[in-house]
Amino acid sequence: MIPFDFDYVLPGALHEAYGAWKAEADAGRSAAYYGGGTEIVTLARNGTVAPHCVVDLKGVPECSFSGEEGERFVFGAACTLTKIVEGGLFPLLSAVCRGVADRTVRNRLTLGGNVCGRLPYREALLPFLCVGAVARVFGAEGLREAPLEALFDKRLVLEDGEFLVSLVVEKAAVRLPYATRRKVRGGRVDYPVCTVAGAANGDSVKLAVSGGWSFPVAAECTRFTSPDTIMESVPHAVKDDALAASDYRRALLRQAVEAVLLSMEVMPE
Ligand SMILES: Cc1cc2nc3c(=O)[nH]c(=O)nc-3n(C[C@H](O)[C@H](O)[C@H](O)COP(=O)(O)OP(=O)(O)OC[C@H]3O[C@@H](n4cnc5c(N)ncnc54)[C@H](O)[C@@H]3O)c2cc1C
Repeated sequence: MIPFDFDYVLPGALHEAYGAWKAEADAGRSAAYYGGGTEIVTLARNGTVAPHCVVDLKGVPECSFSGEEGERFVFGAACTLTKIVEGGLFPLLSAVCRGVADRTVRNRLTLGGNVCGRLPYREALLPFLCVGAVARVFGAEGLREAPLEALFDKRLVLEDGEFLVSLVVEKAAVRLPYATRRKVRGGRVDYPVCTVAGAANGDSVKLAVSGGWSFPVAAECTRFTSPDTIMESVPHAVKDDALAASDYRRALLRQAVEAVLLSMEVMPE
């Protein structure tokens, strides 16, 4: 049970969504953008969050669209991970998202919720970090686009009231050779000890890793860089928690990075 009342708003346009957030802020109240709601509802039940209002982005066309736009593919923040997996437009994204939870849960989890949520994994972000994606966000200044890497500092850094509209990739980028490996401790449906994704452009490789550190990490290397060198280039301590001790996690990370670098030799179908 959620032990407090809150307003639910379903705007039909970008400016209406921001307007709803702004109206709450101006009235000294708090609003949260709402994707699938799984995290908001869980945290509201246990008292960690108590927004006065939730602003559901699923009614905003730009947030719910996933498809072609000229030479680019657009993935709306309110699209569910199931829609993204089954759309199959970006094979690396489909492969990574298929590892998140199970299908029933993915029917609800949204791209925006995964990327902007509190959990440290944010696995859906990894493919976008590997291919130089662009983030579309909407806020006080209207709609803006920025390279994802410029907005990414351990998490997506947004201005007050801004929300993620979509992530955009060049069509050519989704055809790059790619690979991903996900290591879990228990069954397949588990948070990852580590997930590694990579895309190669010639000999250059962009890797993105979740689970190894307390936030997703991106690294650039070549197909021939040793996994140890890549891991040493990350200036943060490998995570040590109940899921995996740091030595064990480091060993699995090393294996996963190596497997990704080796398996990118083959172009995807
Ligand atoms: C059973 C289960 C298993 C899971 N397993 C994994 C896993 O293996 N790997 C993994 O990476 N994650 C996993 N998750 C985490 C999940 O992806 C996140 O909790 C995610 O936040 C849930 O998405 P949602 O759409 O329900 O988010 P919501 O609850 O709607 O939102 C979460 C947060 O993001 C904010 N938000 C949502 N959309 C936007 C937007 N467009 N712009 C700005 N802010 C926004 C909300 O305000 C809120 O703060 C799992 C979750 C569950 C419930």
